[in-house]
Order: sequence, then structure tokens, then C-alpha cells
Amino acid sequence: MVCDGCCSAPWASPTIGAGLGDGPRVNPLLDRHRQEAAADPGSDRIDASIAGAILTIDIAALRANYRLLRARLDGAACAAVVKADAYGLGADRVCAALRKEGCEAFFVAHLSEALALRRRLDRKASVYVLNGLPPGAEMACAAAEIVPVLNSRQQIDSWRGAAKLSGRSLPAAVQIDTGMARLGLAPEDVAALSEDSRAFAGIDTRLVMSHLARADEPGEPASETQRRTFDRLSAMLPQARRSLANSSGIFLGSAFHYDLARPGAALYGINPVPGRTNPMKPVVTLQARVIQTRSVPAGTGIGYGHTHIAATPMRLATIALGYADGWQRHGRSGAFVQGQRLPFAGSVSMDTTILDITDLPAGMARPGDLVDLIGGHQDVDDVARQLGTIGYEVLTSLGSRFHRVYRDE
Ligand SMILES: *Cc1c(COP(=O)(O)O)cnc(C)c1O
Repeated sequence: MVCDGCCSAPWASPTIGAGLGDGPRVNPLLDRHRQEAAADPGSDRIDASIAGAILTIDIAALRANYRLLRARLDGAACAAVVKADAYGLGADRVCAALRKEGCEAFFVAHLSEALALRRRLDRKASVYVLNGLPPGAEMACAAAEIVPVLNSRQQIDSWRGAAKLSGRSLPAAVQIDTGMARLGLAPEDVAALSEDSRAFAGIDTRLVMSHLARADEPGEPASETQRRTFDRLSAMLPQARRSLANSSGIFLGSAFHYDLARPGAALYGINPVPGRTNPMKPVVTLQARVIQTRSVPAGTGIGYGHTHIAATPMRLATIALGYADGWQRHGRSGAFVQGQRLPFAGSVSMDTTILDITDLPAGMARPGDLVDLIGGHQDVDDVARQLGTIGYEVLTSLGSRFHRVYRDE
């Protein structure tokens, strides 16, 4: 666990209470949090010791994950997909760390994300826009030296027009839909383009790519069908580096690697091989603070709608985390204190969640203590399973209200 229990010092304790004001600081680990916040100009500087919830992002684990994926690619390059603020983890920090690892290509979904990222990255790094070239944004995209993923013939035409207008060749990726029916050129578009020698005039095709619909299901024939379609159709387009694999695609074997892989989820610790041991290091830890405890008699209605009625006398702890933090209202994952699971009682509120601490030894989970929601005893994928969703949605839902700690040792 990242926090080493330093934050679980109860507010109620007179010694630690002194540490909150100007008095002597008694907990060296709390001091460490303070020093990290002070040393880090990008941090929100809310003292971790008073934050309601703490999201810790382990940059060292992120970097290790990048290296692990790159090692699996033996030879092919490894990009990073950092759309949606790097899956909620903070694109600035994530990109800076991966750039240092040698990553040269970054993919976002929106042009607005690309514009923000472009300002932060050196010129040698490429920024690709997966959702394509928005009509009317051609010149802005060209001026910012962003590489659009051209998903339709109309986008190719617009980009060719922009190249002509700006009097220079413009870089692009071209996406083929090989069997997902989401984005990219249909097979008949590719055929038509291959007959038109002027179609790519002024376009510097840097990458031809496609995306797998079922990469997380090893042995699923749809992936192999997509791969063959990709081979056939990419041969009809301008010669360029090719890219097919997302995180899970990397684990389908070297036939799927081509020249560049585009992992997102696995970098952030999500299991790219569901059902098998997660080869990635966990990156995200989420802890929330107990803000009140109480004992209630049998028959007590708990939380909104009294969706839980105490069958026996219960002890409850309310934590400072709710659905406004992206912790879904019907969540049932529970929290953990020193490895012991604390079920949720009632439904998650906007800013708070009630835990059943009846079975916890007295003196644990006191006001001021932190409980674990992600990390240690349950990872992002476990939480997702409880919610009937995927780790991607859990991570990208995590809100902006947490105190964030970026750790890199
Ligand atoms: C999101 C996305 C990725 C990354 O997928 P992961 O499963 O997170 O690795 C790669 N390529 C495209 C086109 C995407 O939309």
C-alpha cells in the first residue's frame, strides 16, 4: 500500500491534532505528504492529512508497465493512448513520464485534447487525434502540427485541401474499419481510394491503422479476421507504418504487433488479459477518510430510502466519498481496512458512503482514518466487476475532487 498508513492517524488523537495547526508535527509520514505537495507545483496543495479522499498515482508503476509492454513488442514501437486525461489519471503527468521512457507517439480522442497536449510536448513527439478531423478545424490542426486520424474519404479530401492551401505536405494517419463498424474507411472506400492516384496528394501518410473489437478474448476468430482484412486493405493504401494492437492486442501475439502498438488501459494497470493473472503493475490507489462513526440498534433504516435496515445492532462508519467522486451509486464493492472487507450499508450518497464496521475490532476505522477502495485487496478490475462494468469506466469516472498524489520512486 502506497500510503504506509501515514494518513490513518486519527484526527481525534491529541498528538496528531496538534500537527494540523502550527504546532509540532509528530508524524514523519504526514510530513512526507506535505513535502511532496510543496515540492510539486502541479499538485492541488490540499494537505493530504485533511483531504476527504486521496487518489495516488504511481508513476513508477506506469513507467514499468510501459517498459513491460514495449519488451513484449520486440522491435515494434509502443505509443501511449492518453485520451480522457490519460483515463482519468492526468495526461500531463502521464505523458511527461512516458516521454522520458522514450514514447514518441501519443493518441487522444478529441482535437481539443490534442491542442492542450501539443503545448506540453516537444516537437519530436507526435500527437494523434483518434476521432478524426472535425470539419472546419483543418487549418487549426495543421498549424498546431497535430496528426489527425483520417476516418473517411471526406476527411481525406479536407486534409488534402488543407495541404494545398498551406502549400506544404501535412502528416496524417489513415484508419480502416476492419470489422468494428465504429470509425474508419470501409473496404469499398479503400478500394476507391486505391484507384485515385491524387487522393493522397500533399498528405504525408505516417500511419495506417485499425482497431480490434474483441482483442480481450484470446482465440476469438474475429481478431484473426480483422488482422487479415487489415493486411489486405492496408496494402491498397500509401505505404506507411502500420498499427493494429491496443493493450489486449499486444497479448494476441507478434502477428498483431505491426510497427506500432497503441496501449492505453494496460499502462494504467487494467488487466489486458481478463481471466488470467494481470501482468501489469497497479497504478491507482484510492483511499477515503472516515468522517463519522456511530452505533445503531436493530431496525434502523440506513441511508437514502432506507434501502438497508439493520437486522442486528450495527456499527457504521461514514466515509467522504460518493457518486460525485465517480464512485457509482449502486456500487457494492465495499472498502478495506487492513485487509478486512467492510461492506457498504445502504446506497452511495453524493459525497458520502456508509460502511458496515460491525465486525471490525473496536479502535479501527475511527474518524480520520483512511479506508482503501482501490488498491491492495481490490484492484480496478475487481471494483469494475462488482459494478457490472469494466476497469476503463471505473478509472475514467473518477472525479476531480480527490487530493491527488503522484508518486515516482
Ligand atoms: C482507446 C483506444 C486504444 C487504447 O485501447 P486500450 O484497450 O485502452 O489499450 C487504442 N486504439 C484506439 C483506436 C482506441 O480508441
